[in-house]
Amino acid sequence: MSSHLIKNVTIVNEGKIFIGDIRIKNGLIDEVGTLEASATDVLIDGTGKYLLPGVIDGQVHFREPGLTHKADLYTESKAAVAGGVTSFIDMPNTLPNVLNMDTLNEKYQIAAEKSLANFGFFLGVNGDNLDEVIKLDTSRLLAVSDDGLYFTKKGNLLADNPDTLEKLFAHCKAFIAIHAEKEQIIEANEHLFKEKYGEEVPVKYHPVIRSVDACYQASKQAIELANKHNARLHILHLTTEAETHLFRNDIPLKEKKITTEVSVQHLWFSDKDYERLGTLIKWNPAIKSEEDKEGLLQALIDDRIDIITTDHAPHAIEEKQKPYFQSMSGAPMIQHSLNVMLEFFRQGKISLEKIVEKMCHNPATLYGIERRGFIREGYHADLVLVDMNADWKVNKENILYKCGWSPLEGTTFHSKVTHTFVNGHLVFENGAFHEEKRGMPLHRMSH
Ligand SMILES: [Zn+2]
Repeated sequence: MSSHLIKNVTIVNEGKIFIGDIRIKNGLIDEVGTLEASATDVLIDGTGKYLLPGVIDGQVHFREPGLTHKADLYTESKAAVAGGVTSFIDMPNTLPNVLNMDTLNEKYQIAAEKSLANFGFFLGVNGDNLDEVIKLDTSRLLAVSDDGLYFTKKGNLLADNPDTLEKLFAHCKAFIAIHAEKEQIIEANEHLFKEKYGEEVPVKYHPVIRSVDACYQASKQAIELANKHNARLHILHLTTEAETHLFRNDIPLKEKKITTEVSVQHLWFSDKDYERLGTLIKWNPAIKSEEDKEGLLQALIDDRIDIITTDHAPHAIEEKQKPYFQSMSGAPMIQHSLNVMLEFFRQGKISLEKIVEKMCHNPATLYGIERRGFIREGYHADLVLVDMNADWKVNKENILYKCGWSPLEGTTFHSKVTHTFVNGHLVFENGAFHEEKRGMPLHRMSH
């Protein structure tokens, strides 16, 4: 059985940066230290490169089953691995919607055949299946979520239905992740803009329609209700500076009952970009102001925000390039999320240790994922090697998404993922893929 030995590499892990060697054997991190090569070791020279734990993306939409004209578990997991993402958790708004355990288990089966990265899935919850979810044993579920389900049936956002939300918080023991926007506020705003512009509302008004207030009111109420019932609540993809003040940073993540995340696009883009990119950066919740963007980064650094996700949500380009109301919300990001964060490091805005904490360590802690997210002996060898001095430009030729486009096209990044290991298997090596193995399923650690 061969093993890999990465020599003389700069390791970023658990708040420290140090130079060392690491041996990968039988799918695990075998040893970290100053190591001698053995006859069976395949050597990788890590000189000048950085080694991070593989990124765990806690929110993606890979579109399979049912929407595979946009994306599928093979294509998007391949793009993920090329970007240093070794595990992902996928949302329930595939077709059929994931509203029961059979549908959930079917997704695990498809992924076991197709995904190059490790895979986990949210169980969907909304007004239709609330009573069944409450009765379920949810102890091994990563989480239940309503994210994306309102696209198939309006009025199913939990944050919009305080009674439903309260019933869920009062009776469901699962980890509950919700999309927090108030549809009533959004619909009133839509109505005003429709009166003025008809169907041709300029996309720059998207953050005025899906407003700060719509987000803030929803998050505030959800947190109050969760606190009342001592429920475990995670607010997905925070987008406003105002909301960051609803979260604590005076206790460790493990003790928090209320957590949140930011998606990379809300740190990277602001409302200044609507003129250049139009509906390509139409997301729900919306990309907001420069002040919101800066406030989110600040809250990430001071630990009010716990993890970084992408909300990777590919659509065919024809589905995006439509008038405001018809253009679908969401865009693909997973291939470039680590690159985006490493640009902020280059600009002196965030440390490497903090990036690793928010993209690797904390998602594992938050979702109870066993033996991943850290560089520790005996842990699964999910690892990423990064060259910090390699300029490259995002273009159609190097985009791996099935949809074939990215809102980052034309952007130059200054760092590059060179190697990605998933469960000790070198899946990605200098632009080439070794696809003979599949990722492993993720479940919540049983206690
Ligand atoms: Zn989402």
